Amino acid sequence: MVKLTFLGGTREVGRACIHVESSDKSSFLLDCGINLGEKEEKRYPLEPPSAPHSIVLTHAHLDHSGFLPILVKNYKENIEAIFSTPVTADIAEVLLLDSLRLSKIRDDIEAPFDVEDVLYLRKHAVDVNYRVPLDIDGGQMILYRSGHIIGASMVWVEIDGHTILYTSDLNTRHSRTIYQADAEILPVETVIIESTYAHTNDRHPSLKKIEREFAEDVKRALNRGGKVIVPAFAVGRSQEAMLTLEAYVRSGFLPKVPIYIDGLIRKINEVYKLYWFLLRPEIRRQIRYTKQSPLESDIFRLVSDRDEPISSLEPCVVITTSGMLEGGPVVHYLKKLAEDERNLICLTGYQVEGTRGRQLQDGLRTIKIQDEPININCEVKSFDFSAHADQAGLLRFLSAIDGVQKVILIHGEESKSLNFAQRLKELKKSIDVEVPQLGKVITID
Ligand SMILES: [Zn+2]
Ligand SMILES: [Zn+2]
Repeated sequence: MVKLTFLGGTREVGRACIHVESSDKSSFLLDCGINLGEKEEKRYPLEPPSAPHSIVLTHAHLDHSGFLPILVKNYKENIEAIFSTPVTADIAEVLLLDSLRLSKIRDDIEAPFDVEDVLYLRKHAVDVNYRVPLDIDGGQMILYRSGHIIGASMVWVEIDGHTILYTSDLNTRHSRTIYQADAEILPVETVIIESTYAHTNDRHPSLKKIEREFAEDVKRALNRGGKVIVPAFAVGRSQEAMLTLEAYVRSGFLPKVPIYIDGLIRKINEVYKLYWFLLRPEIRRQIRYTKQSPLESDIFRLVSDRDEPISSLEPCVVITTSGMLEGGPVVHYLKKLAEDERNLICLTGYQVEGTRGRQLQDGLRTIKIQDEPININCEVKSFDFSAHADQAGLLRFLSAIDGVQKVILIHGEESKSLNFAQRLKELKKSIDVEVPQLGKVITID
């Protein structure tokens, strides 16, 4: 018997956390994240029903990793291993230390963990390579490539005679930097799948088309003397945006204006350099021939003084964190640049409900930064550089797996998960489909 308890990430995007337990007393977690758009208790996952012995971390994004340091603080005696790909461990450490630093900037809140808790993760990290089986707490586990960000994984586990696949965040097509999700997966009974863009109305245009539109809009803004702010997640979307712009500048489509890089992106680019062998062949070839990562091209300028891009009289692009405008240097640029109607803000990723990014996406033109209202007179555009599969992609992915009896939908806004559940029930009548509520326990006998 396997018992799955959904501690977060149900009918929401955030605080991904699933507890897996079996009759022979295995107890481990799949991910352990926070909800970036929520405050207080809705920010964190629920308490696990029994002390976990290990954790599998699918990728570094904070909605999957953000609670880890608090968890290990509470369960130090019990936790023996944190399994992930090596690059996931490296990037998670950068993101967690950064979120600690940001929480220390504010006097009104106490940081919920400290540096030692983050270093504890490093000490107990177990490196896992894709497609190499490994023992986990009374069962077996295999990590597959999930195509979402560098090092991101799906987890296949066999425990007590049952097989489960947790897709985590899944991208079924190649991006500029990394490969798409593995399609050849061992047969599995129960699939826990994400549903961020799972609604029937969610259809991603081709990546080529999105990149072209992005370049055209950037060009238009630069030509009218404007500045372009690209708020982006430090991992994945930033590098995609950088390499898209680099390619369009190289081809002569975009003028060679300064492209400023600010925030955590700089540190993550260094990690990309270390793990260049995980990148797409085109980039690997470019690095081999030029002995230089395209992320280090001379069109990029690392920001040392934020006033430089702000007060310069020349048009420019600033790629900076955070992607949902909740913190990081982007807030500073918003304050100074959003009121000028020549400028352009390019949203590049999923915007969680409750974030400033979502407010802008929903058309709000006055947003508050530390109680100060900021008028958004500049142009705002969203580009679907999504690192998540759309409904068609999810369906294709599921159809390629043998033996599926049950599908559990998580990591999506309620309306999207329910819509996808309905569609799955119509298409695959023999499969049991479930959209769990927070705290739901699903037993597999
Ligand atoms: Zn993610
Ligand atoms: Zn996620």
